[in-house]
Amino acid sequence: MIFVALGANLPSQFGSPFETLHAAKKAMQRREITIIAESQTWLTAPVPVSDQPWYHNEVVRIETALSPYELLEVLQEIEEEFGRVRTVRNAPRVLDLDLIAYDREILNKPALIVPHPRMHKRAFVLLPMREVAENWEHPVMGVSLNDLIMNLPQDQQAVPMEEAAV
Ligand code: ADP
Ligand code: MG
Repeated sequence: MIFVALGANLPSQFGSPFETLHAAKKAMQRREITIIAESQTWLTAPVPVSDQPWYHNEVVRIETALSPYELLEVLQEIEEEFGRVRTVRNAPRVLDLDLIAYDREILNKPALIVPHPRMHKRAFVLLPMREVAENWEHPVMGVSLNDLIMNLPQDQQAVPMEEAAV
């Protein structure tokens, strides 16, 4: 099972963050990526805490013939096409596409670390991921997704968009 996390907290040429994520999934499907399952959209507070706008986050389960490196390259091309400007880590962004896991592969190059090195600490990845990942286990930590979620620090706010107050 291959998982990609999507995040956005600034409007883009495609509209609001919600519309941007929708357009990003379409862009992925035009490029040798098949989306098998999609999470809901989650609204999440920035990590680390800051006064940036809240994020819209989703996780998709995909199938692809692309290798992990090829897949990351395609994801980065899409980020660029959507007008992402790289400044500093954790800066607000129109689109962030992270490769969360690629089957049980373990990769440790600076340009590509799989599973994503911070995924297990992030509610905004784990909660949407649980909606599309049955019985997933972290290949390095040997811990189930449910246990990772139970061990999350309690201070990360995340709520499905449908449940958020309007
Ligand atoms: P972040 O997503 O942590 O806010 P960026 O999106 O700016 O940061 O990514 C910074 C770098 O992280 C990228 O240039 C990429 O090469 C590297 N990277 C390493 N592992 C991964 C991964 N699993 N998914 C996405 N990017 C990764
Ligand atoms: Mg990223």
